[in-house]
Amino acid sequence: MNHTKAYSAASATSPLAATNINRRQPTATDVQIEILYCGVCHSDLHFARNEWGFTQYPAVPGHEIVGRVTAVGGGVKKFKVGDTVGVGCLVDSCRTCPDCHSGLEQFCTNMVMTYGSLDKHLNAPTLGGYSQSIVVTEDFVLRMPANLNLAAAAPLLCAGITTYSPLKHWKVGPGQKVGIVGLGGLGHMGVKFARAFGAHVVLFTTSPNKVADGKRLGAHEVVISTDAAQMAAHANSFDFILDAVSATHDINAYFNLLKRDGNLTLVGAPEKPLPVAAFPLIFKRRSFSGSLIGGLPETQEMLDFCGKHNITCDIEMIRMDEINTAYERMLKSDVKYRFVIDMASLKS
Ligand code: NAP
Ligand code: ZN
Ligand code: ZN
Repeated sequence: MNHTKAYSAASATSPLAATNINRRQPTATDVQIEILYCGVCHSDLHFARNEWGFTQYPAVPGHEIVGRVTAVGGGVKKFKVGDTVGVGCLVDSCRTCPDCHSGLEQFCTNMVMTYGSLDKHLNAPTLGGYSQSIVVTEDFVLRMPANLNLAAAAPLLCAGITTYSPLKHWKVGPGQKVGIVGLGGLGHMGVKFARAFGAHVVLFTTSPNKVADGKRLGAHEVVISTDAAQMAAHANSFDFILDAVSATHDINAYFNLLKRDGNLTLVGAPEKPLPVAAFPLIFKRRSFSGSLIGGLPETQEMLDFCGKHNITCDIEMIRMDEINTAYERMLKSDVKYRFVIDMASLKS
């Protein structure tokens, strides 16, 4: 067993605080990673505060992990000590079901999430990346493109793949009008990817102070979603809309913006249900679907795409002990556009 410093929440209402946790000794197929940076996803906050109802405490969030390999088991083939690697939202799966065989491990009924799942090695909940090290089976470790700034690439491991995957699945490309709702960690990557895929990109934001950034990040147009006239001007015009909002909001307003057979995919995971009205969906045969992160092959594909096109996230680096303030700022939509923890700050 290895001891490592970490930050954990003791209950749904307690702030995160320093602690020590155990990691397993690397097995033959394991990779031990010194965590250098970890992105701060809104899911971390939902989870730390038990907004989804399945959190076990103490809880260590963090699933946008990048670091350096410090040890490998005897059977590890793909990685060696010193390699720069990433770990996202998954650390294992059953490997035998149709989803796993299709490289869609995120839909495996027995997937093991980086935090909040059962760690069969330790018979305890898995603990995430707000820590100095982690041990992960090699098949769930990603290779980081050498040309990317490592801290700015960390959020690709969740915010990146969660937006890349549905845009790919719905074949977003040239000639299409695509909407991205919410300019947070996910939304800003949605804008960058939709633009890189050649679509006409429209950002929907509730924050008037994000208009210039939205355009700088790649949106052709920015709509203030609280302005009914601006919304109405886009009625019946979108091929695809990706909704990355973390809180309850009126999703029906966006259905009305879709063309016939247009699709709205939800990746945001608000604490409370979103009411869906029938008419905006049944008229024009619009569809509404969801999407969950992405599988391991597609995550590697996304990282390689980002390496090739020099795409990273716009980040604000924080110290580990600034995490509680960062959560409060995230709740106020005051993040440009992803907090990333410098894990060296956990040493001091
Ligand atoms: P975030 O950085 O906090 O961004 C959320 C954005 O939503 C905000 O910046 C804001 O954008 C908008 N927003 C917030 N409150 C709003 C409200 N009341 N009404 C309308 N818009 C509001 O969060 P994130 O890390 O991108 O995550 C977004 C959501 O996706 C979270 O629920 C998270 O748990 C979920 N998620 C899902 C997956 C998946 O696999 N499906 C993966 C990761 C995260 P504006 O200021 O531009 O309006
Ligand atoms: Zn996430
Ligand atoms: Zn499986």
